[in-house]
Amino acid sequence: MWRSPKGVVQRQGLTDEKAARMLEGFRAGCGAMRPYHVKWAKFKAYCDSHPTYAAIALPLVAANREAADKRKGETKRNQTHCKRGHPLNEATVYFDRGGSHRKCMICTALNSKNPPLPSADQVARVTAAINAGQRAVQFCGNGSPDRIFGFNKLKILRQSNPEFDRLYTTKILLVRPRSNIVTHREVTLTPAQQEYQRVARLVPYQLPHDVRDDVIQCIFLAILEGSLQPDQVQVRVKEFVRAHYREANKHGVGKFGLRSLDAPIKVDSKLTRMDVISLRRWEAGEG
Ligand SMILES: [Zn+2]
Repeated sequence: MWRSPKGVVQRQGLTDEKAARMLEGFRAGCGAMRPYHVKWAKFKAYCDSHPTYAAIALPLVAANREAADKRKGETKRNQTHCKRGHPLNEATVYFDRGGSHRKCMICTALNSKNPPLPSADQVARVTAAINAGQRAVQFCGNGSPDRIFGFNKLKILRQSNPEFDRLYTTKILLVRPRSNIVTHREVTLTPAQQEYQRVARLVPYQLPHDVRDDVIQCIFLAILEGSLQPDQVQVRVKEFVRAHYREANKHGVGKFGLRSLDAPIKVDSKLTRMDVISLRRWEAGEG
């Protein structure tokens, strides 16, 4: 027997009558202890002392609990429309939180475009962050430890609060203008490289690249041998081009001179001269 704090004397543990009522409930499909105001330990103790009862009741409880687990989220799962009335189907739903939550993509897009205005506390924190010299990516960036809100809210805040916009412009945009980003490196050329570039620019660019390289080489050779003055290059460059073709044509192979059949037809090409010739012969029905 057990005496309650209010002085009521009652039997300790579950009564047979209550255990029988619970069994009726289990048979009707309920697996919980709560409707009977019975703790699991008390029910378990009764089962331990009544093995026949336990053999019927425990499997029923387990089966009912499993069925209840399967019913979890049924209301949400059976929803065909979101709370704003957009249809929920494959085209409008994405799965969030590891696939356990359905989200309406139309609502997400609307929320992203029109986020709720930042709270006064958030505005104060962002203002403090800007005054402390933080960059926008620190207080708005995804994954930043100091993030206060996203860039979409920053945009809304700047549009709706001129005072904040002025602060943002002066402290963030004017201090770090985009034009500060270095887009190209300064290249310093040695005098020899500058001289090479000056001479190379005088040789016509429309020549095939290997011919042009040969002509530039011949010009430098002539300068080294003393047969050409550096300031005469512009006047005499055609002479060197003609000499190159004359030399190549010596073998009777046309104006392009001696060219390897395995050489690519252009600088970065994978096609060789041999491929082109084979293709033309095949087209002409000779191959
Ligand atoms: Zn929706």
